[in-house]
Amino acid sequence: MQITAHAPVSPKTISAFLRSSWLSWTIAFALCLSAALVGIEAWQMWHVREASLRSANIVTASLAESLSQQIETTLKTADTVVATLVQRVEVEGVNLETLQRLYGLMTSLASALPAIHEMGLTDKDGNAIVKSMVPHPVGMNYRERDYFRFLSSHDTRDVFIGQPVKSKVDGSLNITVSRRINAKDGSFAGIVVTSVSMNFFRKLFETVQFKSGGFISLVADNGMLLASIPDSFGDGELAALAAAPAGALEYLSPKDSLNRVGASNHLSHYPMTAMVAQNSSAVLSGWYGQLPVHGAIVLSILMVIGVLGYRVDQANRATRLQALRDGLTGLANRRCFDETIEREFRRAARNGRPLSLIMVDVDLFKTFNDQYGHPAGDACLRAISAGVQGVLRRPGDMAARYGGEEFAILLPETDVAGAVQIVGDMQAAIRTLAIRHEAGPLGVVTLSAGVASWCPGRLTATPAWLVEAADAALYEAKALGRNSLTVRPNVEIAAPGSPIERKNAA
Ligand code: GH3
Ligand code: MG
Ligand code: MG
Repeated sequence: MQITAHAPVSPKTISAFLRSSWLSWTIAFALCLSAALVGIEAWQMWHVREASLRSANIVTASLAESLSQQIETTLKTADTVVATLVQRVEVEGVNLETLQRLYGLMTSLASALPAIHEMGLTDKDGNAIVKSMVPHPVGMNYRERDYFRFLSSHDTRDVFIGQPVKSKVDGSLNITVSRRINAKDGSFAGIVVTSVSMNFFRKLFETVQFKSGGFISLVADNGMLLASIPDSFGDGELAALAAAPAGALEYLSPKDSLNRVGASNHLSHYPMTAMVAQNSSAVLSGWYGQLPVHGAIVLSILMVIGVLGYRVDQANRATRLQALRDGLTGLANRRCFDETIEREFRRAARNGRPLSLIMVDVDLFKTFNDQYGHPAGDACLRAISAGVQGVLRRPGDMAARYGGEEFAILLPETDVAGAVQIVGDMQAAIRTLAIRHEAGPLGVVTLSAGVASWCPGRLTATPAWLVEAADAALYEAKALGRNSLTVRPNVEIAAPGSPIERKNAA
């Protein structure tokens, strides 16, 4: 006999079953591995970044310290000169001869000490008496200078470090180091002042900057910027550095909103602080250069992990699919059915929705085999499988080969009426196949079916109970003749002795 060849039944339900567990162990492992790799790499790169900033921090700190020491030495020298001159004036007094000697001493000291721009002596009214750069300072008064105002009104023996001022002689910018001269009676008698050239500091800063490529500034304790390089650097930087959180390696510059690594050092004996900083981007330029390389390496490894993971996962799924599929019909096999009914049972119980099961058996199939041979029997089973699968519409519906020529059709969220309709469609579809079966009740291959339905809520039931009920219904259907259908509406009320609805579709 001739049976139309059918393509293997598409195992929609099995694929759906496998899809429901998309996060397989293989994918989960690949994801964990990738996450670990990215995490380790990120952690390592972060540490390299931190190490770069930390070493820049150490460099700027040691530069700030050495600059402080040099500035300190310079100011100390200037102060020593001033203190010596004060003592001399206080002891020797001021007359033509001492002024001459003082002028000679000042000019030779000023030329011998490169940091010192000029030095001078004023009387108690601020008039210059001696100036190293001006042989006869007539009409030069310094009463308005901060050092004069302070020292004339404070009886102190301490040094006064003034704000940067423009020289009245050549207009250059200098820091003043001055001390008060007292008359014999302790009254204010004048001032000895030395100016330290800003240019000297700039040159000093330039030498350091040439080596380190950083930003350098000298800031007075009152916040005044005394010297800086480049000129744009320094204003507010020290405050921003001081305001950075403890332990932070970087601070945000208020000037250009760039991150900088910096350190400062307060001079031991003078009210000022030296600061050295570098742009974080410059410090991290090497690190930034490494980023794309590391990124590319990590990306390549991730791609390999991804491809391998996907391949292994596909192979696993294929193996799993084979393990869940019936070889002859392509339908879900018994194992897949057992797993699915357990799951659907739990879902039905959770949602309070009905679950129906149809057990189907090919009528007089032994006779079919005997008459037409086993190969024809196999082809018939494949055609029936396709027909059964063909009437199922919902993605959750599952047709499985239960064993031999028996099929189980699981219908979630379907009540008895729905299941009966499916049986009718199935029987019609199989009759339409018109597979000749002389011994059958209609002369063609027919099916008998038993339907059981469970509405959760009233009594506790199990999947085995539902299968037994559908099987018992099938047994009843067979007993009625062939090509028939029997229904057990709800296994909960299908206790022994309860009425069983019978229906003959023939
Ligand atoms: P009934 O209407 O009462 O179900 O009668 P039946 O002959 O179908 O029932 P029975 O259980 O006596 O016979 C089932 C037959 O199904 C026996 C076996 O040869 C046949 N069969 C089971 N599995 C296969 C299969 O994979 N291929 C083929 N060709 N036949 C099969
Ligand atoms: Mg059978
Ligand atoms: Mg049979």
